[in-house]
Amino acid sequence: MPELPEIEALRRYLLREGLVGRTFVEVDAEWPGVEDTIDGMGGLSPLVGRRIKAFGRHGKQLIAKLDTGVLGLHMGMTGRLGVMAPEDESFRYRRLALYLDDERRLELDDVRRWAMVRIENDVETFTARMGPDALDPDFTSAQFIERVSAKRSPIKSVLLDQKVLAGVGNIYADEVLLIVGVSPSRRADKISAGQLESIHNTIVGVLENALAFIESHPDNQGRPYVIDAHDDRMQIPRKPGAPCPQCETALKSKKIGGRTAYYCPSCQH
Ligand SMILES: [Zn+2]
Repeated sequence: MPELPEIEALRRYLLREGLVGRTFVEVDAEWPGVEDTIDGMGGLSPLVGRRIKAFGRHGKQLIAKLDTGVLGLHMGMTGRLGVMAPEDESFRYRRLALYLDDERRLELDDVRRWAMVRIENDVETFTARMGPDALDPDFTSAQFIERVSAKRSPIKSVLLDQKVLAGVGNIYADEVLLIVGVSPSRRADKISAGQLESIHNTIVGVLENALAFIESHPDNQGRPYVIDAHDDRMQIPRKPGAPCPQCETALKSKKIGGRTAYYCPSCQH
């Protein structure tokens, strides 16, 4: 599932491909019935004639700033983007093609069809209900502690709450908590300020490491690689009974806030 590091890698890929300055000339949402779905894939025809000015990102939301309005792209579970030359074969699960004024096209591939693409007037429409971006350099540990330290929910749920902090997904939250040695079920308000500071620093480190890994492993078209939960890169083998990477104790799993947490009963308290 594309998380913040994948989306940031995607943003950089679109910049490298020189999409800034290009104008959309044709929109092709070709999956039958797609106009009727609630995901907003329909209604993209006003894009024609608009020019891309910049690409931003907030959490897992990619935002193309246009000369008029903005285009939000959310990759859902399985979405990915590719910039294609005319002769390039389309993605297998292509849902959308946005043709550009240099004959290339931006394609969305999405086997599960949970990606969302929509036009809005401004960036705030996408970000208003989200907390600060987890990699925002202006977001400090003190601000993190302030946002988190009064919460009575399990720390794992707090980290996944996009209203608190945008961009920490399930697998990265587990990785952070293992490194810091904090149990995913500990209530956030029972964690010391020092440990919360370590959690914040570790979030930044884990996301930046993942981004560096993605950027150094492009696919054969130069497109960003999507880390999967069972990837070699991941610190935590996501199956119960697998050994803890730090002490080899059998990992446990449990549902916290509807999401499966993997943790080490001897390293995490
Ligand atoms: Zn352990």
